[in-house]
Amino acid sequence: MSTETIALGLPPVPRERRSRAEVEAAAPVTGEKKVLLATPRGYCAGVDRAVIAVEKALEHYGAPVYVRKQIVHNRHVVETLEKQGAIFVDEVDEVPEGSVTVFSAHGVSPAVVSAAGERALNTIDATCPLVNKVHREAVLIGHTGHEEVEGTAGEAPEHIQIVNSPDEVDQVTVRNPEKVVWISQTTLSVDETLETVARLRERFPSLQDPPSDDICYATSNRQGAIKEIAPRADLVIVVGSANSSNSVRLKEVALEYGAKRAERVDFAHQVDESWFEGVATVGLTSGASVPEVLVQEVLALLAEYGYSTIEEVETAKEDILFSLPKELRSALKNDENVGRQLGGRGAKPNR
Ligand code: SF4
Repeated sequence: MSTETIALGLPPVPRERRSRAEVEAAAPVTGEKKVLLATPRGYCAGVDRAVIAVEKALEHYGAPVYVRKQIVHNRHVVETLEKQGAIFVDEVDEVPEGSVTVFSAHGVSPAVVSAAGERALNTIDATCPLVNKVHREAVLIGHTGHEEVEGTAGEAPEHIQIVNSPDEVDQVTVRNPEKVVWISQTTLSVDETLETVARLRERFPSLQDPPSDDICYATSNRQGAIKEIAPRADLVIVVGSANSSNSVRLKEVALEYGAKRAERVDFAHQVDESWFEGVATVGLTSGASVPEVLVQEVLALLAEYGYSTIEEVETAKEDILFSLPKELRSALKNDENVGRQLGGRGAKPNR
């Protein structure tokens, strides 16, 4: 998995930092200062594929390439792709007719696909294959307004009810209580989802489970690693954006599993030195839409504050890769054929 795809344009560190001595004087640390680094963390296969799809589309078609919604929920990724010529829009009616348009990793409803068809857009669907799997099924535990939830609900709006939390279970009304199936947004807290399912099952004893587990492997694995780290950590830092569901969830899971404090940052410069007062052990992880370079920036900052011993806490191995969207594969194949006819000039290697 190429986790170093996006590595440009790190913002400058704007604030004045207190020195390490000043922070330590405020609250002395007892014990060795160390970082517990979560593995797995950062980019999942679906995000990696979506980002590469936009990069390859820019290489193949040239700028601009339009992208419906944020390709993945990460500020740094979006800003970097914008610099390369991607234009992010909310809806396809903002895209000039006939333009190249990428659908984000979070999926689109059939209504969006047909609106794109009406504008004769040249579309590349970067919906994560695991989100697509959820789209084929029905009734939904998730957060109203999240793109994946909107995309899934748009598949069969008259048959899908969204339940945001266990407390909303009482408001669910169904036509036939014998025929209720639950599915979930892929990036929720595993524990909260299971609580909602338990409450649903109390109301609908015949509740059917989805054919397979919809909390995707990447979400479970990242939460699994932070559950291991949290009880040992005075402070957990999660790198990820505020609109990244799974990053926000990682912070909640850290607190739930015993971290004394947990904070989420987009960039290293947002780390506040006052968080380190009295802190010996810092846990560090990142959401599924976060490039590794942003984690390395935080590690460098932690080293400045004396947290230079790093213990990697690995709770799962990941080797999942998804192939590029089919529209792009055939376009790139044509490039290769042209390159071969030109004796190798002009063909760009596939990643
Ligand atoms: Fe796909 Fe899971 Fe990544 Fe979402 S978190 S893009 S469902 S692999």
